[in-house]
Amino acid sequence: MPITRTLKELDLLSAHEAVNYQFDRAADVLALPDAERTILKSPFRELSVELPIKMDGGGWRVFNGYRVQHDNTRGPCKGGLRYHPSVSPDEVRALAALMTWKTALVDVPFGGAKGGITCEPQRMSSDERQRLTRSFVRAIGDIIGPSRDIPAPDMNTNAQTMAWIMDEYSSGHGYSPAVVTGKPLHLNGSLGREDATGRGAALLTRAACADLGIELKGARVVIQGFGNVGGHAARLLHEAGAKIIAVGDATSSVFSAAGLDVPALRAFHAEHGLVQGFPGVEPLKPAALLRTPCDILVPAALGGVIDAPVAAQLDTRLVVEGANAPVTAGGAQVLQQRGIPTLPDILANAGGVVVSYFEWTQNLTEFRWKKIASTPNWKKPAARLHRTTATARRHDVDWRTAAYILAIDRVAQAARLRWMS
Ligand code: NAD
Repeated sequence: MPITRTLKELDLLSAHEAVNYQFDRAADVLALPDAERTILKSPFRELSVELPIKMDGGGWRVFNGYRVQHDNTRGPCKGGLRYHPSVSPDEVRALAALMTWKTALVDVPFGGAKGGITCEPQRMSSDERQRLTRSFVRAIGDIIGPSRDIPAPDMNTNAQTMAWIMDEYSSGHGYSPAVVTGKPLHLNGSLGREDATGRGAALLTRAACADLGIELKGARVVIQGFGNVGGHAARLLHEAGAKIIAVGDATSSVFSAAGLDVPALRAFHAEHGLVQGFPGVEPLKPAALLRTPCDILVPAALGGVIDAPVAAQLDTRLVVEGANAPVTAGGAQVLQQRGIPTLPDILANAGGVVVSYFEWTQNLTEFRWKKIASTPNWKKPAARLHRTTATARRHDVDWRTAAYILAIDRVAQAARLRWMS
């Protein structure tokens, strides 16, 4: 008998509990036995490390870092590394589980993992961030590797961070570019990786609009987060003819009813590191950004920003989860009740891990592709959405539950064949 929870109870679930709540909804449809649920829901390994770092001023600070390996049934663990004050064991656990379901959904031969360091990278120098990164790699060096666990960029980490990881790991294990993806092009990175997540989100948005009968040309789009995912999604949706009317970052938000000049805003952001001060636009209060009336809302920053009360106030026709877990379990229920379709994170932001797979493949084969036939093209995301839509219709569930059904079924089948038989 399923337990009914209030919206408030759903919103109070921890990040990992919320992922598992969604897991159970899909597992119910699959009639997954209890033992399989227990095994598939919990991470198989968690490592917490203390990182004492000498700061530029001469003093020492101790940071906490985490690497959670959720599942490696279908391949080595794969998942990003996040630097942010909100990083906690529970958050990393949740993000690691999402990676298992994401890699399975898009059928790349990886499991799921995630890492994070609780820190404020904007308040640290590049040298301090480098020492922190290298110290983390030394601390987790025994559990990562090209066939064990392959980190990648996430919030506040980038190609330079990945270069440091590769260098530090290689100093102990021999030259190992395949230990990490999202590297710079000059250091065995892959064409197309930099904008792959934003590109995937934009392509999925286009496919979802076609499915829902929303005209993308001229559609009003609001994007929270103007970093790797949000910035590239804004650029590509703008190029596809959508009108980006508002974007926000950690410090401020800007609005233009006529549509923002996205290339100029990106150039401004590249120079100043924030959107605040961009000329010819209206400032928006942070709380107003998500509630701005629009056709498509793309949360592409932090998790948990759309809870049940926020979801009740959204004025949009489609939510595209560029970020991981931006909608709480309560928020998801409200959106469903209000008939606002949501492209779930494990589908919408999977472009990055798909091209990471191509990067890893090139590194393992010591061969560099000249063309990125690999860049997620229009057909593949559309095909993924169609499969998810068909599953949703078959079981009368939303896109999120359908995506989990497809993903869990793949991992469960592999686990039965590999070690549950
Ligand atoms: P990023 O560090 O490049 O950019 C993050 C952006 O969010 C920045 O513009 C920052 O100012 C903004 N931001 C931070 N706090 C905010 C707040 N409170 N309100 C509004 N904006 C805020 O990070 P990213 O790589 O673009 O990742 C963004 C999200 O996408 C994360 O949830 C991440 O897990 C997810 N994601 C990233 C990738 C990837 O390939 N980078 C892949 C899949 C999912």
